[in-house]
Amino acid sequence: MNIAIAVDGPAGAGKSTISKAAAERLGFLYIDTGAMYRAAALYVVEHGKDAANEDDVKLLLPEIDIDLRDGKVYLCGDDVTGKIRTPEISVASSNIAVFPCVRNKLCALQREMAKRQSVIMDGRDVGTYVLPDAEVKVFLTTSAEVRAQRRLKELQEKGIESSYDEVLSDIQYRDKNDSTRKMAPLKKADDAVELDTGNLTIDESIEALISIYKEKTNA
Ligand code: C5P
Repeated sequence: MNIAIAVDGPAGAGKSTISKAAAERLGFLYIDTGAMYRAAALYVVEHGKDAANEDDVKLLLPEIDIDLRDGKVYLCGDDVTGKIRTPEISVASSNIAVFPCVRNKLCALQREMAKRQSVIMDGRDVGTYVLPDAEVKVFLTTSAEVRAQRRLKELQEKGIESSYDEVLSDIQYRDKNDSTRKMAPLKKADDAVELDTGNLTIDESIEALISIYKEKTNA
């Protein structure tokens, strides 16, 4: 039987780092839904259009082909894994994510992926909307300040220039955008376990996620 683990939470809560590592340990496929919104936003930006303009986005949407393979993100066949992580694309992805046409397209793709094998899927709406029947649901939290510090370190390690203030305001902007949009907003599912990673190391967070999985599935 295929198992689905849904990991949701705000920007910078550690979803991708923790989910990726846990997926490796469990032999599950890791699906980063945020990367899909980022790739769609990159396509719009690279075509000189505004990711906050629904008409522009709607027009380009049929051309957008996204694939996640071998830990990489492909946009119309090109590897865009690095290119989607800039602060500009973070904001554009949050803007594009409010449009139902975008969410419907990406959500269908995500459900299709989860049908084929056991997955850990991370995002904002996985437990509430994409996979409401997921066997395991975890909602990661921690303060915006801690999340900003972590995200800044991540960007610096990748050689992407930014400042603490810029990252914090980007996170606050996305928190608001993600939790107030009409369709599938960021929200803890009623049956999700809340995990505050503020005082946990990455390894402790991975362990906590795996313990929740074992508890819920008797694995
Ligand atoms: O997770 P990440 O920060 O890479 O996601 C980028 C943006 O994509 C988020 O700010 C959010 O607006 C959007 N997103 C979403 N639903 C998801 C995953 C990401 O709306 N399931």
